[in-house]
Amino acid sequence: MDRRHFLTLLATSAGLSHPLFDTLVSPVGSRSGLAEDVYALVLGSAQDAGFPQVGCYTERCDAGRALHAAGKGRFASSLALVEPQAERFYLVDATPDITRQLDLIPEPAFRRRASERRPFDGIFLTHAHIGHYAGLAVLGNEGMGIRDTPVYCTPSMADFLASNQPWQYLVEQGRIELRPLPFDTWHRLDEHLEVQLWKVPHRDEFADTVAFVFRGPQATLLFLPDINMWSQWDRGVVEAVSSVDVALLDATFWSIDELPGRSMDDLPHPLITQTMEVLQGVVDAGTARVVLTHLNNSNPALDEGGPQQAEVLERGFEIAREGMRFAL
Ligand SMILES: [Zn+2]
Ligand SMILES: [Zn+2]
Repeated sequence: MDRRHFLTLLATSAGLSHPLFDTLVSPVGSRSGLAEDVYALVLGSAQDAGFPQVGCYTERCDAGRALHAAGKGRFASSLALVEPQAERFYLVDATPDITRQLDLIPEPAFRRRASERRPFDGIFLTHAHIGHYAGLAVLGNEGMGIRDTPVYCTPSMADFLASNQPWQYLVEQGRIELRPLPFDTWHRLDEHLEVQLWKVPHRDEFADTVAFVFRGPQATLLFLPDINMWSQWDRGVVEAVSSVDVALLDATFWSIDELPGRSMDDLPHPLITQTMEVLQGVVDAGTARVVLTHLNNSNPALDEGGPQQAEVLERGFEIAREGMRFAL
């Protein structure tokens, strides 16, 4: 039983309505003010190649450029896990946008740790597509030059990194230490955080693909940026999302219209319209917050204030945005 459920049970069984208990079991996403206040920070919300995408000069991508010029740009999907009191930091997926994404981490301790070349207590990698691990490149010799940083991933992803350059060189130089983890069991990272790896079906050309579930003192968060259709996942999306407090989910495409020539049976990612249909009950019941991420540059839900964003919000779903925080 995690601490939040324990405290809820304790408060209920004791008939307590003390403000302390209200604080300790406060809704996910609110700041509790606890000394060990741990949170997940959204560092990116776009598909692998970012937003705008290279060489794309549509109206939508130009709007994406304008957002960057205003300091409000979107980056490739990624998270930081932050433990302010303990001054611990974890990175979830290392994207090509990593240089500017790390500037979003507000804690002064992070900058000190970066200057010491040990910014992260661990880096989690979901899979071997460029938006999820290519950022490691600038953490090596020609960039930050990190040292002794654990990289948590699947055994096949670890094999891929250990046997292909330039990633192999990061291992040989002692910049990263590969820590392959088995699926479907909790692994303790430190006194506050645990992680679990869930295998998901995806285009696995070089290595397999996982979602991560992070469990902190207050809440549990699912990070699932890439998957084929929900129907291909043996775990079941409703069951999976219902078991966490916050779910950041693959929202690459809005509708089939973005994929000319593809049939509904051959979709490489779930459509937002399908995801909302499947998970509407979970959202309506308040079981979990569903936050859409990994949006492709063709996705109209990127249009700020557009009808698709309005529909998402109206139905109780959320769209990930850089700087968003979720208490863990
Ligand atoms: Zn991706
Ligand atoms: Zn992928």
